[in-house]
Amino acid sequence: MHPESPQRLQSIYSMLDHKDFGPDLVHIEPRFATLDEILWVHDPHYVDRILDSADRAQVRYDPDTVTSPQTYKAAWLAAGGVMEAVKAVLTKEVRNAFALVRPPGHHAQKDRAMGFCIFNNEAIGVRYAMKAHGIKRVLIVDWDVHHGNGIQSIFYDDPHVLYFSAHREDFYPWTGEEQEVGAGKGEGYIVNVPLEVGCSNSCYGNSFRHLLWPIANQYRPELIVVSAGFDTHHSDPLGSMNVTPEGFARMTALLMELAADLCEARLVLVLEGGYNPQALRDSVEMVLWELLGSSMINKEEMRQVEDAQYDEIAETIQRVKAVHRRYWDFEVEEENDAFIDTRQP
Ligand SMILES: [Zn+2]
Repeated sequence: MHPESPQRLQSIYSMLDHKDFGPDLVHIEPRFATLDEILWVHDPHYVDRILDSADRAQVRYDPDTVTSPQTYKAAWLAAGGVMEAVKAVLTKEVRNAFALVRPPGHHAQKDRAMGFCIFNNEAIGVRYAMKAHGIKRVLIVDWDVHHGNGIQSIFYDDPHVLYFSAHREDFYPWTGEEQEVGAGKGEGYIVNVPLEVGCSNSCYGNSFRHLLWPIANQYRPELIVVSAGFDTHHSDPLGSMNVTPEGFARMTALLMELAADLCEARLVLVLEGGYNPQALRDSVEMVLWELLGSSMINKEEMRQVEDAQYDEIAETIQRVKAVHRRYWDFEVEEENDAFIDTRQP
């Protein structure tokens, strides 16, 4: 079976059926994106190619990306679902949202399907926030194990989007080195943090606290969108990282804190990878508790572990800072409670 299967969402839906998250968890009905909305990001001839797959048994767009007769519909609905989530947050119908959609999107290029992705759901959601709601600066944080090369290429010269990706180095899709920083007016607005294989919760906590926090504070986004992949989970068949469900909750908590500080708490998570259905279900559950304000983790303890394990990622952080020092000031990083560096001097 292909790893990007309907079982992924079925596993999450069955968790949602069995757990009582209380009245604060509301369902947002997805819709199909319109053709115009898809064309905000994708080339017309590419959209035609995807439409050609309708009702055909199978079309293979790249070695990993293959469609079934209804894939085009799911892709249209995934993009529309993300836009509805963005809308619900921007109109204050909800405080934050998690778009549980598939197929994933962050590898999808303007003119090409890639790495299980058909349409770039996040990019379409971001364009929607800008065109329909007048948002001018969006921070996209990508914690999927893979680099989101599609998001990067779509916004490479665009200062209205800051793309921050922490991903496994020297791994599919073989992009995302720290030297890739954007171009033209977008130079400095792509921040890549390549991580060693086997990274645990602390790697991510520390890269958020020591790199993302100072940069985001200077960028001052009006909306934060997360490419939430769960293929860094320790039992994922593809990722080879060591993140636990508590680690995903910790990342969520840090981003909620950032969103509360910078953009009226506007935070939209979008499901990306995660190919062990049980791990996906457990991790999404922990993230939902966090988003609902019923945290299941001990943040203080996790912060202390991050401080104790800082050395594991110190070199990576220094490398990224060396590249980005000409765009961002990293001396501001000591001011926020959630992010504060508690190591002894
Ligand atoms: Zn992935």
